[in-house]
Amino acid sequence: TALPADKDTSNTRRQVKGAAFAYVTPRVPSNPKLLHFSKEAAALLGLSEEDCKSDEFLKVFSGAEVLTGSKPYAMCYAGHQFGNWAGQLGDGRAINLAEVVFDNKRWAMQLKGSGETPFSRTADGLAVLRSSVREHLCSEAMFHLGVPTTRSLSLIETGDLVLRDVLYNGNPAYEKGAVVCRIAPSFVRFGNFEIFAARQDIPNLRLLADYVIEQFYTEITEKSELKYVELLKAVAENTRKMIVEWQRVGFVHGVMNTDNMSILGLTIDYGPYGWLEGYDPSWTPNTTDRENRRYRFGNQPNIAVWNLFQLANALFPLVEKAEPLQEILEAYRDAYYVDYERMMLAKLGIINKQIDDVKLIEELENVLKLTETDFTIFFRNLSKIDRNTKLDADFWQNHPLNEAFYAPENLVGDVKTAWENFLQNYIYRIAEENETQRQTKMAETNPKYVLRNYMAQLAIDAADAGDYSVMTELHEILKKPYDEQPEAQKWFAKRPEWARVKVGCSM
Ligand code: AMP
Ligand code: MG
Ligand code: MG
Repeated sequence: TALPADKDTSNTRRQVKGAAFAYVTPRVPSNPKLLHFSKEAAALLGLSEEDCKSDEFLKVFSGAEVLTGSKPYAMCYAGHQFGNWAGQLGDGRAINLAEVVFDNKRWAMQLKGSGETPFSRTADGLAVLRSSVREHLCSEAMFHLGVPTTRSLSLIETGDLVLRDVLYNGNPAYEKGAVVCRIAPSFVRFGNFEIFAARQDIPNLRLLADYVIEQFYTEITEKSELKYVELLKAVAENTRKMIVEWQRVGFVHGVMNTDNMSILGLTIDYGPYGWLEGYDPSWTPNTTDRENRRYRFGNQPNIAVWNLFQLANALFPLVEKAEPLQEILEAYRDAYYVDYERMMLAKLGIINKQIDDVKLIEELENVLKLTETDFTIFFRNLSKIDRNTKLDADFWQNHPLNEAFYAPENLVGDVKTAWENFLQNYIYRIAEENETQRQTKMAETNPKYVLRNYMAQLAIDAADAGDYSVMTELHEILKKPYDEQPEAQKWFAKRPEWARVKVGCSM
């Protein structure tokens, strides 16, 4: 039976001392409307398309009704934000509904944007349609790209208005509110460990670590306290794999605070994320991070280690030896570089690594920066070069690789020479590879379709006006990001000029 929020006081904001979570009740929306669902995510829970269109689905996943026998809750966690200790945070606008076991897999279902919790601090616990469309589309797109991620089941408009900005003329700018239901085996974050360590609550710290090991890291068989070292090692490995995938597809998370780091190495919390358009390691989509650019594309691997260091600190009281934890962090950089190199070679379609290939990667990273070069289009069309390609005037006029350059007029002088040097080296190098293998490797490594910022924006603008067709179209295309899909060709294009400075924003 439903528990209306107004008859319940459990959601009151407060410091929650000595507890790992608080029971909360999702806010009952005024006029919920299902805008979109992912049938692939639904299938993970054993839900059919029919189920998703039912009235019951709408009630449960909009927060209108609490599932019989379930007790929704919000988790308490802490975190380091932008390099500083931020103390207690917690699910300020996320509510865990229940867990489902289907097909031998456990899924936690979590509503995002369904009202305040004890952890909401000064914010409202709500989400606007804009950010919800972004989270819903991007989580599913990331999954289909092969990047470890939380999934998004549904996007529901609440019928309530949310205040995010006040206009220059002083008028409040209300936006449509929405609720996303995201699912993952677990939403436990690094920050869940940090809160117990900060409170020096060792029994709960141990309980949490044991729970995570037993549920999600079953390969750890160690019984002594060294199992927590193994845990750090396994989390470091999953995190590393996730980051390599981000770098492969050009994804920039934008808010890699430790409270946004999943203990399972899943991409979580799609806020001001963005996709590289022109290749630029210093780029970040986060407008609040424009000065330090802590969370820039090229810094994501370093930040991962920094965050793992915080996790190691949090686990330290369980191990009481620093060296084994330190060793894991020290080994991380080398291990990352091995993975990174393998990934970059895969992007280049090189399968049998040679000693000089490292230089080729470095040369590429350099030339990519010389003139604004679209990351996605470049790698996708690089496969159209082969061992017989001649870098003559016709190439610079007509070869599809040219589509990747935002300012072809800059391809002159030294810049052009550097590009020609790289491309010539590449042409020589691929002459030693098997062409069929190279083509296959490149087509499965370099996506043709990613959720560029302007694409998400077009989906949002349409959705805001009540037209959900763009969102649906993008959702469909992004299910097969490596397929040619000629009918979707218009989305395989450089960012239009109007979208240059416009970036995605969080909240
Ligand atoms: P984020 O930067 O989005 O990861 O959020 C950092 C913290 O702020 C987390 O504890 C969130 O739950 C909380 N938070 C973010 N947005 C809201 C909101 N609209 N209402 C309540 N809490 C929020
Ligand atoms: Mg967060
Ligand atoms: Mg967020």
